[in-house]
Amino acid sequence: MIPGPIELEPRVTAALAQKTRSHVDPSFIEDHGDALRRLREVAGASACFPFIVPGSGTLAMELAIANLVEPGTRVLVVHTGWFGDRMAEIVRRHGGAPTQLRAPIGEAPTPDELARALEKEPAAVVTITHVDTSTGVRADLEGLARAAKRAGALVVVDAVCSLAAERLEQDAWGLDVVLAGSQKALGAPPGLAVLTASEAALAARRARAHAPASLYADWAEWMPIMTAYLEKKPSYFATPATGLVSALLESLRMVTAEGRELRAARHARLARGLRAGLAALGLHFIPRDETLSANTLSAVSYPQGIDPSLLGAVKERGVVLAGGLHPEIKARYFRIGHMGAVSEGDVVAVTSAIGQALRALGHPCDPGAGLSALAQALG
Ligand code: PMP
Repeated sequence: MIPGPIELEPRVTAALAQKTRSHVDPSFIEDHGDALRRLREVAGASACFPFIVPGSGTLAMELAIANLVEPGTRVLVVHTGWFGDRMAEIVRRHGGAPTQLRAPIGEAPTPDELARALEKEPAAVVTITHVDTSTGVRADLEGLARAAKRAGALVVVDAVCSLAAERLEQDAWGLDVVLAGSQKALGAPPGLAVLTASEAALAARRARAHAPASLYADWAEWMPIMTAYLEKKPSYFATPATGLVSALLESLRMVTAEGRELRAARHARLARGLRAGLAALGLHFIPRDETLSANTLSAVSYPQGIDPSLLGAVKERGVVLAGGLHPEIKARYFRIGHMGAVSEGDVVAVTSAIGQALRALGHPCDPGAGLSALAQALG
């Protein structure tokens, strides 16, 4: 139950076990094209161009910034946690000028605040972390994107911890780039950076005076390859991670069969249920309220008198959780991932394990009350 990499469905593991195929094997070309089409479907991005590139989510961030940011480009980073700092650093490395719009830990800047910030200091690009995995905060992506578009900025969305588990409509909300990694709610192993780019984003890349400094991150190098896969033709720029693409396709088949709205609703229900259970154990969360709380993970404060040894006690009860990540509050909270193949059984198991571990460590709580609040919230 960590916020990625997540456990794989057996079908996905089986896909990984296939014999390695050549990147120009007709069956691989067909599968890669299929994965690109399904990626577009998952992001609600039928008008966008899809990329699947070997690398992690951080590469997906670089793939966005390297193409849209030139020396001197002003970028406003909507900051809801540590991954906003990473985005600002990537912007700096590419010669851009990042400004951060920050909120207190556990909160998110509002669309009005973004509009005012852009009025004061215009930016060519606005980046938004949909769900920041260091705080569990989910930003109001639709509202923030509307404010950014009104100010004429391109919108880049770090959806590493949201794609395929939160509501996200790339075409309808005017998101120019949606980027993610394979290892979270997309349900695949780590190792693939995925990205869908709007026509406006592609036009911004074409309009550059100079190509990006990174050959590997240049959309212009990858576009002919992705186009070839979509058209079922062989092509080569850099060797694709053939086995990982097979696994991702298997997982995307499951995601698209479930449907993105139902999948987001399933994650929302389980997340609400889990937090109701934990609240009944007397626990509090890093996000200020439930509207700011992600479907994909919960960031939970240690109660008074309990320290990170709680995670060891929970593990003894069969559940693996993650520690804190945000440098300012690292030792004060822990994180529970609940995305991908997560089920009612999983949230029951984690609530029960945490309740028992807390009681064993001397925190006064009733594990049964946690389970009954969970059951009630699930309805
Ligand atoms: N952005 C967010 C919101 C993330 O959660 C992560 C990974 N936890 C990243 C970016 C970076 O992805 P990766 O670790 O795959 O490079």
